[in-house]
Amino acid sequence: MLKKGAKAVLRSVGLQREQIAATRMAVERATLASIPRTGAKRQWGRILAYHSVGQPRTGVNDVSLRRFERQLDIAIELGFEFVSALQIAHTGGEPNQLAITVDDAWTSAAENIAPIVRKRGLPWSLFVVSGWSDHADDWTRKDILNWSQLKDLMGGDLEIGSHSVSHPDFSKLTPDQVKLELEVSRDGIAENLGFVPKSFAIPYGQSANWNAMAHELARSAGYDTIYSQAERTGFPGTAPRTFVTKFDNDRIFRALLNGAFDSWEEWV
Ligand SMILES: [Zn+2]
Repeated sequence: MLKKGAKAVLRSVGLQREQIAATRMAVERATLASIPRTGAKRQWGRILAYHSVGQPRTGVNDVSLRRFERQLDIAIELGFEFVSALQIAHTGGEPNQLAITVDDAWTSAAENIAPIVRKRGLPWSLFVVSGWSDHADDWTRKDILNWSQLKDLMGGDLEIGSHSVSHPDFSKLTPDQVKLELEVSRDGIAENLGFVPKSFAIPYGQSANWNAMAHELARSAGYDTIYSQAERTGFPGTAPRTFVTKFDNDRIFRALLNGAFDSWEEWV
């Protein structure tokens, strides 16, 4: 058992690490956004990946309410059209098409994202971590949507998919553990929301978080669309997405739409 003082030091080291990672990410985003883009014109649509909006406790992936609305406005001003993620995943989409996906089912998905996308009539997708939506822990009860809240959210142009049971790094799991994460989350959604999900977003989503075994087992579990990050590095056969972070001001977001982060993977 650590003494109180030692615990405080460890907590402070942890916070400093988080701060350093966040600072590094801010610098990376700003730097990559400044590099002029050259090369062939894009031929397909882009799937954006958000986490929370106006829920800063969630960390570097939280986008403020004002900025989220602004990003939608910027996209429209630039001539983009919003379509469903499934449309882009299955057809490739057109270069002027964008889709909105949201991971983890933070409470702000219902409180802030849903009202905005619904007011604008935009389709969107939400990926649920079934073990978190079970509300078994204090932190999930505080910050994550439970099944009845998800049920209230259903309808309209919302697609709900699985994001596993416990948000693990799939590359570190045995085949049995992979199957459990894929199947128990699928069955949890079926039991609590009344439909069998056909899409799955890989937790963390980096190329390093997925492999051929997981891919095959995901297909066998009935998932026909598997979302990853990023455009140039996504595991073959997955639908790549572009993560939007807390640091993405107007300039960085425009660069993002222009491909500045197509090789960038968060959580590295
Ligand atoms: Zn996630």
